[in-house]
Amino acid sequence: MAESVELPTRLAILPFRNKVLLPGAIIRIRCTSPSSVKLVEQELWQKEEKGLIGILPVRDALEIKSAGTTASQGTDILDQSSKLQDGSSDSLKSDTKKQNDIVHWHNRGVAARPLHLSRGVEKPSGRVTYTVVLEGLCRFSVLELSTRGIYHTARISSLEMTKTEMEQIEQDPDYLMLSRQFKATAMELISLLELKQKTGGRTKVLLDNVPVHKLADIFVASFEISFEEQLSMLDSVGPKLRLSKATELVDRHLQSIRVAEKITQKVEGQLSKSQKEFLLRQQMRAIKEELGDNEDDEDDLVALERKMQKAGMPPNVWKHAHRELRRLKKMQPQQPGYNSSRVYLDLLADLPWQKASEEIEMDLRAAQKRLDSDHYGLVKVKQRIIEYLAVRKLKPDARGPVLCFVGPPGVGKTSLASSIAAALGRKFIRISLGGVKDEADIRGHRRTYVGSMPGRLIDGLKKVAVCNPVMLLDEVDKTGSDVRGDPASALLEVLDPEQNKTFNDHYLNVPFDLSKVIFVATANRMQPIPPPLLDRMEVIELPGYTPEEKLQIAMKHLIPRVLLQHGLSSVFIEIPEAMVKLIIQRYTREAGVRNLERNLAALARAAAVRVVEQEQVVPLNKGMQGISTPLLENRLADGTGVEVDLMPMSVNSQNISNTFRIASLLVVDETMLEKVLGPPRFDDSEAAERVASPGVSVGLVWTAFGGEVQFVEATEMVGKGELHLTGQLGDVIKESAQIALTWVRARATDLRLDAAKGFNLLEGRDVHIHFPAGAVPKDGPSAGVTLVTSLVSLFTQKSVRSDTAMTGEMTLRGLVLPVGGVKDKILAAHRYGIKRVILPERNLKDLVEVPSSVLANLEILLAKRMEDVLEHAFDGGCPWRQHSKL
Ligand code: ADP
Repeated sequence: MAESVELPTRLAILPFRNKVLLPGAIIRIRCTSPSSVKLVEQELWQKEEKGLIGILPVRDALEIKSAGTTASQGTDILDQSSKLQDGSSDSLKSDTKKQNDIVHWHNRGVAARPLHLSRGVEKPSGRVTYTVVLEGLCRFSVLELSTRGIYHTARISSLEMTKTEMEQIEQDPDYLMLSRQFKATAMELISLLELKQKTGGRTKVLLDNVPVHKLADIFVASFEISFEEQLSMLDSVGPKLRLSKATELVDRHLQSIRVAEKITQKVEGQLSKSQKEFLLRQQMRAIKEELGDNEDDEDDLVALERKMQKAGMPPNVWKHAHRELRRLKKMQPQQPGYNSSRVYLDLLADLPWQKASEEIEMDLRAAQKRLDSDHYGLVKVKQRIIEYLAVRKLKPDARGPVLCFVGPPGVGKTSLASSIAAALGRKFIRISLGGVKDEADIRGHRRTYVGSMPGRLIDGLKKVAVCNPVMLLDEVDKTGSDVRGDPASALLEVLDPEQNKTFNDHYLNVPFDLSKVIFVATANRMQPIPPPLLDRMEVIELPGYTPEEKLQIAMKHLIPRVLLQHGLSSVFIEIPEAMVKLIIQRYTREAGVRNLERNLAALARAAAVRVVEQEQVVPLNKGMQGISTPLLENRLADGTGVEVDLMPMSVNSQNISNTFRIASLLVVDETMLEKVLGPPRFDDSEAAERVASPGVSVGLVWTAFGGEVQFVEATEMVGKGELHLTGQLGDVIKESAQIALTWVRARATDLRLDAAKGFNLLEGRDVHIHFPAGAVPKDGPSAGVTLVTSLVSLFTQKSVRSDTAMTGEMTLRGLVLPVGGVKDKILAAHRYGIKRVILPERNLKDLVEVPSSVLANLEILLAKRMEDVLEHAFDGGCPWRQHSKL
């Protein structure tokens, strides 16, 4: 390739549109146009010895216009405007379109040698095409352009230097310097490419073997440079000019590679981070859009800061909060911890550090009035509350004990507490502690935990938004301790006036002053409340209501409230006293009034259906006629017993809204009760039926729901003298059963139980004692007397009196000991329709607490010894006495 070439004086010319072939470069051209096909066919294909052809750059008119003045110096263009169809290179695929374009021939070209030639025939047109691979050899200049048939030829003169000229110039120090410079730059480029692609080996060989002025062409030919630059390279005929041009281009290429490399490195480094950020931002935007929250984060923090400033935090808290805010400001919203920090500061800003509801000037008479209007009865309780309020009025910061209402569900504990709040003009918040076993529920989790939260107290204060509410700690007896700590000890701190000034919630991590909060607690039972906690509280017991009290509560409070809640009034429904009594007797056997309220609500719903239906089916003016409502009829089935009193419109129309003008009064009767509430759930004959067979006795127990009537069943069967116990029993009650059996066996002779069976009462038989309602856990000693009674009944085969219930602990020697919850138990017996109650003698003092109306309906029988109990429990007295000759 390095050898010098003899050029002919005339060459066939292949135009090269907007491109340049430089010496040393190799190109592949597909010739499709008729002129170029002809040229190749005649000049190359058909000739035995393939000659050279000239490749002459051409520029179309469009290019000229746009390149215009930017054409580099020395680029003179042969303006031989001709309408000849131009050549055929691969760059001229759109020949036809350009047929009429004026073509400008460049005056210098490169002679090329065909390296490879192939002929093809296009199907189906049958057109012949050639593909030629050409190697550029040396520059020539065009002296004259002419045509041969349909292609061009040119008379040319070589621009190649002769050997001597070359030798001369190689002595030129400028040339030497230029060539060194070029080689150095080229070397640099090769090394760089080698690093990147590991393909530099062959190029390095070139560098050593090819004359520099040729190398310059080869290098430049391999770059992608503009047509103008290619032309100017072609025009650089002198070796010095060519070298300096090539050095410049190689250097430029080198720099561009370096810059590209740098950018790639930077981009690669940042890509993963920025991609992640981009993704997260996109997600955040989507979430915000979804939430309709398009506020900017920046604005968000400003708003937060403003809120914090207004929160009135104590200085130490403010300092802490401000530090946290500064930290937050430095964080990216996407950073872990941003959100938790944000939520924390929000809580700090929301807490009522100073905001308090203004306490109204307390008027004790108004408070009493309010308590009376909200609650029926409960005279003693109300009295105690008034005392409490009076002390508060005299000494607002008095550290009196915390009131704790103890009683079964539905007796008004919660509503009393809210009445206290109303009387004081404070906000009311209820914190439910039922089932709280984790100390963190009260004190919160430390913020290091994932998903940590403040405790219930701080959460409650945030909700109520004042620092001096009345806070009801509901069901303090239901907290329990386990491995997760002891909530009761945390409560101790809350209730201790010495400590609660600086209550420390783990989540909050700054002290909060709870001393302005008025705490009131409730519990179902006193016994499970840990003694230290109980010590801080003043217990006020609410034992439950007698049926009479319930009736009054229902008539005066529940019915008006229920009707109001259902959008009704006494115009639409009347629930007569007799029916309320029936509901109390047959549908609710509870200490409180919650079920009663629920049943009344069911009646109100049925009435609401009827009122709405009437409005729909009856035209306004025909309201006085018989009214039938399909839905109500369904519920009331045959409807025979339903009294539908029609109300003369003129009487009440002023009071009733227009919408319901046609409604008539629905008076609830027994049939409706059954239709709406279902068949009666309880009746007084239950006890009689259950104790009909020997071995069953009626006991009275005390549960979280107040007093209850509890049956004890005993039976015997063939066996080995064992005692079986069932019914979810605790240890104490199991021991009571053992004691009872032992006592009966010891007294077998006295009781004449062993007359027929020899001395061993359990000879060849097992005894099984069961406490029905097996799903309810039972424990305590007070079933002692009931157990003995049922065993005696079993062995003597005599039934116990069904109208008699009993309670009492018994010693092994037969002494009857006092028990707790007497008041509740007597009330339960009364509810159940029991007429006689056997009590330990020493419980006589407790009867003072029992309402006299209940006592008036009951016969209370006191027992000192077990024999007394048996005496009262059986018809005709104790079986033992019956047989006794005494
Ligand atoms: P507790 O907290 O004891 O379980 P609540 O205070 O929730 O019971 O009372 C249940 C319902 O019974 C409330 O609607 C309450 O107003 C009503 N109630 C309870 N006792 C009385 C009463 N003596 N007078 C009027 N309504 C009462």
